[in-house]
Amino acid sequence: MLIRAGTLVESLGRIHRPGHLRMERELITEIGSSLSPRPGEEVLDLPEITLAPGWINLHAHLELGSLHGALTPGKDFPFWLKQILTRLPSLTSEVRRQSIQRSAQEALCAGTTSIVSITSDIPAMAGLTSTASRVWWALEFMDVQNQPEVSAIVDRAMAWLSRNPANAWHLALSPHAPYTASPKLYQEILTSSSAHKLPFTTHLAESPEETCLLAGKETSFRDILPKDLLRKDFGNSKSPIDWCKHNQALPKGAILAHVNELQPSDLPYLKEHRATVVHCPTSHEWFGRKSFPFEILKENEIPVCIGTDSPASSPNFQLDLRQEIRLFRERHSNVSLHEAWEMISTAPARALGCESRLGTLQTGSWADWVGWRIPTTHDPIPLILQGIDPAEISCVGGKITVHEKI
Ligand SMILES: [Zn+2]
Repeated sequence: MLIRAGTLVESLGRIHRPGHLRMERELITEIGSSLSPRPGEEVLDLPEITLAPGWINLHAHLELGSLHGALTPGKDFPFWLKQILTRLPSLTSEVRRQSIQRSAQEALCAGTTSIVSITSDIPAMAGLTSTASRVWWALEFMDVQNQPEVSAIVDRAMAWLSRNPANAWHLALSPHAPYTASPKLYQEILTSSSAHKLPFTTHLAESPEETCLLAGKETSFRDILPKDLLRKDFGNSKSPIDWCKHNQALPKGAILAHVNELQPSDLPYLKEHRATVVHCPTSHEWFGRKSFPFEILKENEIPVCIGTDSPASSPNFQLDLRQEIRLFRERHSNVSLHEAWEMISTAPARALGCESRLGTLQTGSWADWVGWRIPTTHDPIPLILQGIDPAEISCVGGKITVHEKI
């Protein structure tokens, strides 16, 4: 199929006018400005549209969409976690599946074609037949109450994926956080993620209460953890990242959600482990967190990407990365729109090990693109990022969706 658009953003430095893209099945096979249709080839003409790579959200919880507006930040982070726990019975499998489908659709309309979604209720995935966007199901594990059978669960999830080959679905593994997953569980998941070459992601250094717990100080976390929980590793870490270092908890290339609580002594470990940090600006603001240490991470060449987290802790229920970028640039005014673009395209593609498939529109990339209605005479990057309208048309793995406007 040949698509002839007004403009095509191949990557930040390469803009084609007009912008032509040929795709076959799920892949882009040719990019240029003067491609001619082959005999019998289907042609889609979009002269007023700018095609750009679909964005990548490295941290979301698609299954929690129904909790939008239901919770409050409260007095501290454990208080918020307690609210989530009391809501769990209302999150039936059906409610979770509906949230997943709706949130993936909303995100696609807002330009995001790939989402890493933390998946805490794996059986609820049974019966899910499709999602609008590409999804990495990040299977979440904890061992507060009982020991999960990691390898059996991973095998079942892989079999589920192979039964759904028409979907652009992938797996990732995610120990929840150091306060709910022991060092042994982290290490087991690390081994499994290396063996199966699956991305590894975890919530880390999110709140001051977590830092206190791991340092052995008094914290309200004690109110929500079981009284008989025996964790010898609580009590001697200077920071959550220091905890990871002592417990050999992270593989190379880990994707770390939040990292709000950072000590200067953590930086060499993050760098050596080639970690990527995911910052979720609207959720960060909602919790009233202290300033995110973006500048120090950047100085130390630790990649930072932008995610949304879930509508249970953010007003951004559309999972719109443009909204996250706007707030991020209000708080970090030195960040250019081009730099912000990289944080939702090429940087997360690299973190997923998919830089030849995602983040740019090149020969061999997955056909994951978004069509925006913007004037074609300007630099398209600011116009797209500063816009608020939904995308006109999008494509995930070669499947085109035209977004209806009423
Ligand atoms: Zn999260």
